[in-house]
Amino acid sequence: MNETKLKSYKEIINSPLVVLNGIGRKRAELFGKMGVSSVGDLTDHFPRAYQNRGNVRLLNEAESGLACSFMLTVATVPRTARLKNRMEITKFRAFDESGRVEICFFNSRFAEKVFDVGQTWRFWGRIAKGRNGLTMTAPVYERADIPGTRLPDLVPVYPSTAGLTQSVIADAVKSAFGLIGDRAPEEIIPPELMLRTGVPDRMTAYRFVHFPQTVREAQEGRRYFALREIFEFVLAIRVTRSSRNRGTPPSLRKVSVGPYLEKLGFTLTGAQKRSVDEILNDMTAKGHPMMRLLSGDVGSGKTAVAGAAAYVCAAGGYQCALMAPTEILAAQHYGKLSPIFEKLGLKTALLTGGLKESEKKRVREGIASGETDVVIGTHALISKNTFFARPGLTIIDEQHRFGVIQRACVAENTGEKTTPHVLVMSATPIPRTMGLVMFGELSHSVLDELPPGRQEIKTYCVDFGYTERLDDFIRKQVSEGGRVYVVCPAIEREKDPEDLLSVDSLDQEKTELHYAVEEYERLKESLGEISVGLVHGRMKAAEKDGVMELFASGKIQVLVSTTVIEVGVDVPEATLMIIENAERFGLATLHQLRGRVGRGKKKSFCILVSDSKGENAVKRLGVMKDCSDGFRIAEFDLQQRGPGDYLPDRGYARQHGESAAPLLADVDMLRESEKSVSGILDSDPDLSAHPALREAAGEIAGKNERLLQ
Ligand code: ADP
Ligand code: MG
Repeated sequence: MNETKLKSYKEIINSPLVVLNGIGRKRAELFGKMGVSSVGDLTDHFPRAYQNRGNVRLLNEAESGLACSFMLTVATVPRTARLKNRMEITKFRAFDESGRVEICFFNSRFAEKVFDVGQTWRFWGRIAKGRNGLTMTAPVYERADIPGTRLPDLVPVYPSTAGLTQSVIADAVKSAFGLIGDRAPEEIIPPELMLRTGVPDRMTAYRFVHFPQTVREAQEGRRYFALREIFEFVLAIRVTRSSRNRGTPPSLRKVSVGPYLEKLGFTLTGAQKRSVDEILNDMTAKGHPMMRLLSGDVGSGKTAVAGAAAYVCAAGGYQCALMAPTEILAAQHYGKLSPIFEKLGLKTALLTGGLKESEKKRVREGIASGETDVVIGTHALISKNTFFARPGLTIIDEQHRFGVIQRACVAENTGEKTTPHVLVMSATPIPRTMGLVMFGELSHSVLDELPPGRQEIKTYCVDFGYTERLDDFIRKQVSEGGRVYVVCPAIEREKDPEDLLSVDSLDQEKTELHYAVEEYERLKESLGEISVGLVHGRMKAAEKDGVMELFASGKIQVLVSTTVIEVGVDVPEATLMIIENAERFGLATLHQLRGRVGRGKKKSFCILVSDSKGENAVKRLGVMKDCSDGFRIAEFDLQQRGPGDYLPDRGYARQHGESAAPLLADVDMLRESEKSVSGILDSDPDLSAHPALREAAGEIAGKNERLLQ
């Protein structure tokens, strides 16, 4: 087809997959299952790892069962024989300088035509040692003796789906880049930003990601996409912020917060008082609508502060929406706040998915008519089809992801021309650097003080030599009525280890992994009487809940798990948290995990177990040991691992999987992007001179909206 000659980059990437050689309707459908439906989707379908085929062994060095590469010359003509069970086997012999091997393929008569005597191929597969010598069944094969071409050492391993082989995907990717040729898209990242952060240009980055010569190239390629994501993120948040800044804030009647504080039942901490003052100042000042972040560790008392803001808004004549991430949290807030508000004469409603349709409708009518003063519910319910008569304040609880925040800030579902105030609350301490980008100078309130009576959790770092002593410590805690968490980074040993290289790891050292399933078996054996449970991400929700309940009620005393317990569990009797392979986790995760203990009156402990000698790992674990301040931990983590945890999900820069692989995005990218975007917006506030940037900012807003639904 010669028509492609005239096409632009954009036209090509928007074309359906069937324009590629070898992709018909059937295969296109399979790709569709992975969300890959256009040529552009395919170029953005990144390998999840790379297989190292450069590690070529001689036949006499082969360890049986372990897959690796061999350079072999074909010695005999392939012959096909018919087996009893209607199978066919095609066999031939091949050799290298150290020995020979029989290679077989099943039901692959075409192999007769592939291999000719005298050719050299690179075979990748497992060697079996049998009575009649070595055999290799169904290896991967690549012609290795074509003059002028060199086989790449690294072969991408793509996310796949049943029916699509790696080679079909890889060929499709090659064909896509063949079509694109030397066309390139318009670059929206300013050139000096690319220069300062040292990333390759986009087409080079694609080449590095899909066809790397070295691991380093694969990483370099990904850095471009990380920068792009961060740049777009900063751009979109700044555009949202500046358009909000131009909006008219609601004109609240001035009321005192005193009556609310009297009904609260406790005195605010100094940090809470300061935060309430900052928020009320923003809400009553003339100027622009508030966009403020309130962050504080779990238990620092954010709800009471949010309540003060809601009260001042509602008593001042406007409506307040309080959005929580889960129904349970929404119900909890409602349970705490509505009795206070009702006593103060404010009408409060709960809007959750669990309500009957007719009830939801009634609640929404109350909001639309203006009768309801405060509505508490989940993000999704409040942001969709919910119209406010007099929107004054939107509070978003437990959110540090930009997509959700931005969606709430745009808030076009309002009946008025005013732009409501926004307060975002998060227990994932958002580091200062990040807060600055998202909320700007002076709009970050911090609860850096816990309400009285909380105790610090003693943290220790040990190596696996301590396993027996730790078992004793578990027995001691349990005999004193405590309960114990044991967290492992992975569920189960992979049955089929391949020679995979991940590009996401910061420490190149490899520590031995500890698996939840094995640790569970070991502890059951070692702890005898004590009952041990297991939860992990591959279990069904109902199963998980069942085990969690047994742990909460004390029928299980030791719970082995993966990070599934990171959020939302509250077992006050838990006094000991043991984290194995602690070097594998991000600090934010370690901090959240540690927060699962120390919730009752008893002294609590967190033990980080690691054999790692890596410089970064040792530093990170040291920070955990010496520091219980979530903000300092988050700031350190941001410096080391980059800002990926705060970006919209599903990004290039984000890690995949359960444990915390470090990211290739870094804080410098964030700072440099912020500088660059500020410079552009200063001279061109509505981006009228930068149409491509304007379009990008709009597209990201749309993407985030989709993520919410
Ligand atoms: P978070 O910041 O994690 O959302 P909460 O708002 O749920 O924390 O508060 C945790 C607990 O501390 C609640 O039971 C709350 O009533 C209590 N609390 C909050 N502020 C104070 C205070 N100043 N004095 C005593 N208890 C407080
Ligand atoms: Mg809370």
